[in-house]
Amino acid sequence: MPEGDAIHSAARRVGAALVGRAIVEIETPQPRHAMDHWPERLEGRTVRAVDARGKHLLIRFDGGLTLHSHLRMRGAWGVYRHGQRWRRSPRRAWLVIRTADHEVVQFDGPVLELMTDARTRFDQRIARLGPDLVADDFDESRFLARLREDDPARGIGDALLDQRNLAGVGNVWKSEGCFLAGIDPWRRLADIERDEALALVREIRPLMRQSAARGGPSDVEAWVYNRAGLPCRRCGTRIRSRGQGDDNRTTYWCPRCQV
Ligand SMILES: [Zn+2]
Repeated sequence: MPEGDAIHSAARRVGAALVGRAIVEIETPQPRHAMDHWPERLEGRTVRAVDARGKHLLIRFDGGLTLHSHLRMRGAWGVYRHGQRWRRSPRRAWLVIRTADHEVVQFDGPVLELMTDARTRFDQRIARLGPDLVADDFDESRFLARLREDDPARGIGDALLDQRNLAGVGNVWKSEGCFLAGIDPWRRLADIERDEALALVREIRPLMRQSAARGGPSDVEAWVYNRAGLPCRRCGTRIRSRGQGDDNRTTYWCPRCQV
């Protein structure tokens, strides 16, 4: 699943291709969007900005319209020069935006909607997001305040995935962050000290920002993610895994290094 670093990286690439450029052509190949008339509403407009907010990507057009996208598990953004081969099949394209130089394509994206700028400020999925861990202005005190308002019986691993606490973290960074901070992901929020919560975000943030600057996640070897049953790279103990939280997302941890 694309996490905040991948979305920030996509926003930079999409922004470099679109911001300040006139839109020559828009296609929405899937039947679901056939009645939306985006070509009529957007062609000829200029893109003002492309922003990432956690795992959401917002393409802001002049005239007060914004395209909102969320990739969920399998979606992806592609940016191509004309004539360059797409990384996924054209049948999987949901949106194609063409400028004089580029084709910007959203593949397999389940959330794609056009809204007014005013609505983006009130849309609950966006307005309720916690501080964005990859953003330049990430606010540690807001993160701590959100954690304090959450259910004290909730496991810290599960709480990290809640985008209202912290925007951008997904299953990979959750597990890796808890390992790097030496924190057992099953500990209840009530038992997490302020300094431990800070250690978590301070471990994850530079790595996510490096990843975003590099162009998204690379195949760097994980400490614990997806390593159930294998020896811990630090102490040799077998890595454990179990589903956690309401969504039963798999958490990986070392029972010796994380307490
Ligand atoms: Zn270990």
